[in-house]
Amino acid sequence: MSDMLFDVLVIGAGPTGLACAIDAQKEGLRVVLVDKGCLCNSLFHYPAHMTFFTTPELLEIGNMPFSSPNQKPTRSEALEYYRKVAEHYALDVRQYHHVDRVSGTDGDFTVHTTDRFGRGQDFHAKKLIVSTGYYDLPNYLGLPGEDLNKVHHYYDEPHPYYGLNVLVIGGKNSAAIAALDLWRHGAKVTLVHRGEAMHRHVKYWILPDIKNRIANGEITAYFASTVKQIAEDTVTLNTPEGEITLANDFVFALTGYHPDFEFLERMGVTLDPNNSRCPVCNVNTLESNVKGIYMAGVVVAGERTNEIFIENGRFHGALIARDLAGKLLGKS
Ligand SMILES: Cc1cc2nc3c(=O)[nH]c(=O)nc-3n(C[C@H](O)[C@H](O)[C@H](O)COP(=O)(O)OP(=O)(O)OC[C@H]3O[C@@H](n4cnc5c(N)ncnc54)[C@H](O)[C@@H]3O)c2cc1C
Repeated sequence: MSDMLFDVLVIGAGPTGLACAIDAQKEGLRVVLVDKGCLCNSLFHYPAHMTFFTTPELLEIGNMPFSSPNQKPTRSEALEYYRKVAEHYALDVRQYHHVDRVSGTDGDFTVHTTDRFGRGQDFHAKKLIVSTGYYDLPNYLGLPGEDLNKVHHYYDEPHPYYGLNVLVIGGKNSAAIAALDLWRHGAKVTLVHRGEAMHRHVKYWILPDIKNRIANGEITAYFASTVKQIAEDTVTLNTPEGEITLANDFVFALTGYHPDFEFLERMGVTLDPNNSRCPVCNVNTLESNVKGIYMAGVVVAGERTNEIFIENGRFHGALIARDLAGKLLGKS
């Protein structure tokens, strides 16, 4: 048991969590962030050479300018930027502490964590902000063979797949970007997607590239098709032309991710079954149905993980901080 008592504890030190901590700290509150990984752990695990879809100013938090020589910043530029922001605001970030559970009530919460070595540590806070994102839990397909170690649900970089038969499952941005990157670095790429064509959300500058690679036969694509099973050396697809089996070395199942709904429910947060399992919360303050526990960032939109991203989630901090300042400091 530790004697640390904070006004506000933020679970998840992604861009949203950092923005929330800065806004609460600006109100004069004593804030700590706790993350199971490193600072901006999700961004750190994005493809190594990725470029954001968003221009730098829309990724800014804490009124700190994000300057980049590129129209769209890279992952490493964004990581550099968020490190500098954390340093500038002297944010108290406890990295590599997984939040297992929360106990207590409004004004007196205990956050139970485990570090990398399995050691427990408790934090005490009057209010909690949950900004745990969605990137830790892939949407598994439940396929035979999905548990083989050649199947990945995250794409990192192309080099290990040079000259090999790689299947990419999915039809949105992540799948399109991975398929193109793998092909450009010498992999033999097949893409399979259950839809009739690439998804309409694929960015307008990526779509012609993937379409042309497919039209030229450089990437083989099977649309309106699904994966039946994955084996050590093959994959079997159900296509409109019937079942086919292809030689295969690696599979990237890039079919999306979802928030840790169980974690939210364990805190007593109600998920609305009629609204994509969005946590029930006050839209003006983002306080959930559990008094003193606030939702922030992509978790607010439940299963609709493409609705809130860095561009708009970064403003959640201001809403929450105003409410916290009223409740904890009597500010109006
Ligand atoms: C490849 C890719 C490209 C993208 N490009 C863009 C873009 O160009 N523009 C844009 O606006 N958005 C983009 N997004 C989406 C954007 O990155 C996310 O919406 C954003 O990161 C959400 O921010 P967040 O702070 O809510 O969550 P996250 O950034 O996911 O942060 C959540 C944090 O919570 C931590 N955490 C989770 N569970 C626990 C726990 N139990 N205990 C402790 N810590 C925990 C995680 O380790 C993580 O650090 C992209 C997403 C992907 C996958």
